[in-house]
Amino acid sequence: MKNADAAKGKAEGPAPALVREQVSERAAGGVLYVVGTPIGHLKDITYRAVEVLGAVDLIAAEDTRVARKLLSAYGIKTPVESYHDHSPPAREKALIERLQSGARVALVSDAGMPGISDPGERLVRLAIAHGIPVVPVPGPSAAVAALAASGLPPSPYVFVGFLPRRDKARKEALQRLRSLAYTLVFYEAPHRIVPTLSAMVEAFGPREAVLARELTKRFETFWRGNLAALLERAEREALRGEITLVVAGTPDAFEAFGDAEGRSGEEAQAAERALREALSRGLSGRDAVRVVAAETGLARRTLYCLLNRLADDDGAGPRGCVRPGRKPPRDDRR
Ligand code: SAM
Repeated sequence: MKNADAAKGKAEGPAPALVREQVSERAAGGVLYVVGTPIGHLKDITYRAVEVLGAVDLIAAEDTRVARKLLSAYGIKTPVESYHDHSPPAREKALIERLQSGARVALVSDAGMPGISDPGERLVRLAIAHGIPVVPVPGPSAAVAALAASGLPPSPYVFVGFLPRRDKARKEALQRLRSLAYTLVFYEAPHRIVPTLSAMVEAFGPREAVLARELTKRFETFWRGNLAALLERAEREALRGEITLVVAGTPDAFEAFGDAEGRSGEEAQAAERALREALSRGLSGRDAVRVVAAETGLARRTLYCLLNRLADDDGAGPRGCVRPGRKPPRDDRR
């Protein structure tokens, strides 16, 4: 038995003190439920969310008027109090005290999952710090809905949320994201969509992207194209409503793998030149990679990416980062 447990990775004896375990099913006394609510379509709420909202002692809502509209549609009569990002610390303290005295509190935002570019993060952290169980009641979230319907690779992805508003900070944020080979998900307000798309074209080039507008609502619309085309259309049509942007990760294998090695662009270019030169001397791809790896100290995997890019002069991007003749890894996305 000991061995079987060890084989399953179970440690003997009590769990180390550094791991604080929450078994939600066993939660007694106060519980903070983090409840997802519709992002548009009123019916996008789970049976469980309705049940929990009806059963708790208190609903802490980003906007009590928005919450009451939803609650009245489902005949829920639970008391509602306001909780948002500008709530004073005393408000949070009062909520924690109620939870400590055994109250069950449901946290809701105006739409989607609380804490996801919405109030909630602080209260969740505070509850955890006070040993109060935090139980998610998952519902819709614009990021996941847009990603799932985007047609772009849904994994791996990075949820960015809102970019900084100021030009310089936004530019810097985009530069930091530029080399990620992950699909990127952004929230943006309609009046900022043109400057944001324009900054993205500048930072990312004409990558594939999807603009998802008014998800789950009557005028739900998807624009699929490259960033430059989306920008051009957004400049012509004044966009209204709520917008989530999904942007493809970098198609540039060097950025993905070279940057992971902490190498500069100049080093990448030098390695690329060295590969070209080795190939022009008649070396096979494999030998060129071996020679340049020895010269530059770059990983062979990085060099295979560069090599494949050289072979791919149609501009469609690299074909993968594998040795010629080998199958690409399962998650290689092109
Ligand atoms: N907590 C929410 C969630 O889980 O999706 C997000 C709240 S955040 C304050 C609001 C932003 O989410 C909007 O500005 C928009 O970018 C995005 N969003 C919310 N609802 C949307 C919808 N129906 N269609 C597209 N984007 C939406």
